[in-house]
Amino acid sequence: MHQIIIIGSGPAALTAGIYASRAGLEPLMFASSVEPGGELMNTTDVENFPGFPEGIQGPELMEKIQAQAERFGTQVRYEDVTELDLAGDVKRVTTSDGAVHEAKAVIFATGSAYRKLGIADEDRLSGHGVSWCATCDGFFFREKTIAVIGGGDSAMEEATFLTRFADKVYVIHRRDELKASKIMQQRAFDNEKIEFIWNSEVAAIQGEEEVTGLTLRDTVDGSERELPIEGLFIAIGNDPRTHLVHGKLNLTAEGTIAVDGRTSKTSLPGVFAAGDVIDPSYRQAVTASASGTVAALDAEHYLVSLEDN
Ligand code: NAP
Repeated sequence: MHQIIIIGSGPAALTAGIYASRAGLEPLMFASSVEPGGELMNTTDVENFPGFPEGIQGPELMEKIQAQAERFGTQVRYEDVTELDLAGDVKRVTTSDGAVHEAKAVIFATGSAYRKLGIADEDRLSGHGVSWCATCDGFFFREKTIAVIGGGDSAMEEATFLTRFADKVYVIHRRDELKASKIMQQRAFDNEKIEFIWNSEVAAIQGEEEVTGLTLRDTVDGSERELPIEGLFIAIGNDPRTHLVHGKLNLTAEGTIAVDGRTSKTSLPGVFAAGDVIDPSYRQAVTASASGTVAALDAEHYLVSLEDN
């Protein structure tokens, strides 16, 4: 039986791996078979992770964090977890090949997925003008004209943040009323660089190598028009990846896994959660890493408490 199984392979999972392996717990990590490495694998330059003053490419950063985790004995397997049995003292993790792996503790760090518009070219131009993260990519849109899609707090926050760099920010919303809180709305309304385009959805994204414009469809009368832009930020919500633990762990109203205060302790003993899957607000690589640290330390204390009993 393993001491700890970690599910996930983003900054939270791998940092938990670094701490757990340095504690001699030889963690087994299930990175997914299709998209190991998490959201940073889709990012180009990462300029806000401490320790890299010249910046670093997202995939390279993940490679380095993984190498650090493996150096101390984290065993990474590129397999998908299909089922979890977490209620008892022995946690059972089933992978897609049908194998069942047992552990005394589980760290769940499956991250979250940005919602997509679901239109052609969204993925093709991702990293080439299409982004889901203003904090990560805003800097690259200095003096440009860009658009933010969405009407919630995220869209307002992103649009307001992006006016630090861009000359002009369109906020495109599918209705004529925002979902965002009044204070966030007002901040955006008061910003001279922000212009709202109401009752509109993105029908197409133009650009061969880089984004050059949008085709917008009026949601009331169906008419279409072109809008030249150089960057597109999609901020239509974010879904924590919790499908494996539905009905097993308590979730918050926001859909993240509920943890006890600032700890990583979930509603089941021996099960810890970290990173975006518990975080509806910050969603940064460095906050995810810190959260992974908390989970590894909590798991370590839990394992010691088992020995004491
Ligand atoms: P959200 O509140 O769910 O808002 C998503 C927005 O995107 C809505 O306006 C929605 O339109 C729109 N949308 C959804 N799917 C779409 C699609 N396919 N095409 C076009 N538009 C689409 O998500 P969020 O803004 O990410 O916020 C999530 C949570 O985090 C909220 O509780 C929010 O308050 C919180 N948050 C807080 C802060 C802050 O306080 N600083 C910052 C960010 C987020 P409809 O309005 O028509 O549904």
